[in-house]
Amino acid sequence: MLLIKNGRMLDPASGADAPRDILLDGERIAAVGAPGELQSRASGADVLDASNLIVAPGFIDLHCHLREPGGENSETIETGTRAAARGGFTAVCPMPNTRPVNDNASVTRAIVERAAAVASVRVWPIGAVSVGSKGEALAEYAAMKQAGIVGVSDDGKPIATAKLLRSVMDDCNALDLPVIDHCEDSSLFAGAVMREGKQSVRLGLRGMPAATESLGVTRDIQIAELTGARLHIAHLSARESLEEVRAAKRKGLRVTCEVTPHHFTLTDEDVEYNTHYKMNPPLASREDRDALIAGLADGAVDAIATDHAPHEPALKDVEFERAPFGVTGFETALALALELVHAGKISLMRLVELFTVGPARVLGMTRRIAAGEPADLSIFSTDHAWTFYAAESASRSRNTPFDGRGFRGAPMATIVAGKIVYRRP
Ligand SMILES: [Zn+2]
Ligand SMILES: [Zn+2]
Repeated sequence: MLLIKNGRMLDPASGADAPRDILLDGERIAAVGAPGELQSRASGADVLDASNLIVAPGFIDLHCHLREPGGENSETIETGTRAAARGGFTAVCPMPNTRPVNDNASVTRAIVERAAAVASVRVWPIGAVSVGSKGEALAEYAAMKQAGIVGVSDDGKPIATAKLLRSVMDDCNALDLPVIDHCEDSSLFAGAVMREGKQSVRLGLRGMPAATESLGVTRDIQIAELTGARLHIAHLSARESLEEVRAAKRKGLRVTCEVTPHHFTLTDEDVEYNTHYKMNPPLASREDRDALIAGLADGAVDAIATDHAPHEPALKDVEFERAPFGVTGFETALALALELVHAGKISLMRLVELFTVGPARVLGMTRRIAAGEPADLSIFSTDHAWTFYAAESASRSRNTPFDGRGFRGAPMATIVAGKIVYRRP
């Protein structure tokens, strides 16, 4: 047994924000009580003192890349989930663009089995939309769902045609799986390496306009309306896209979206020729960033997701145009979100929601701190001062724009199925 005492519990599902002790027994929460109340039931239990700390439901990351199988020089399930645990995440959803692609149940099973052996946190894979993510034949969703997938996506590649998307949605509707799309109009995307604007002109780099994303979002929402399917927009970055999502929600469509920490923190003005600022979708304008923050605050955005995309140093150590898209993100996500809290832009409860019940809802799950629930908890400080150094990351890769950034607030302990999988030294 483990007793977490003296913490401030934030539980968005019940709205509770109060001092609470929490007793864990095996893989479940045994009891939640006022400070001191559980002492008699907890004799002999290990104790974790959470004084001055927030105790929240376990964080879920809807979008990451663990690179295994096939990309082990950049990340493995073991190293990636260790970084996730350090970031306060208790469950992560790896995208299927591994080698081989996770487009059938045997690959899904291999990932789930590997995770059971080496992962620090729960691994809930996303299956591919199409065989090889080639945008042609549909993957075998039912068998993959049985093997453990929680959604489908061809992330990295948009779902090519409306017709294909319609078939995918019809199939996934029957299985109650969310369809997660990396929205992009490929004709506008072609050859671009950053957002189109003053900065792309100044740097002489090929840019893509915001419409590259928002045209894709518009199409997807229309097909979601046609089919009634669950649509989740990956790494939404443009103001226009968010307006589409807002309108869809007003209509009552089952449309959700996620925003990454880099998109709510940085803008295209931060892009020089440093490849650690190259990701897709690219960093957007100030107006976009401010719109995303407004959406995080008012509920238009459902989840913060990292899009943790590790690349081994050699791949990023090339000219800007030639570098692959993507940055790491597990270990800095919470601290970047806390910057919004410190600036008074979102409430602390809203932050917790964006990492817990928000992503859970996208997956059709719940997340709460109550007796009988899984003992997955994220314990963090809102004021611990620290500096993130990429060289000290648990990830195999170092491609982050936040190397050397000072933060206030950090994950302090991460608990998965009743076990402490990370404790800040
Ligand atoms: Zn993507
Ligand atoms: Zn991605």
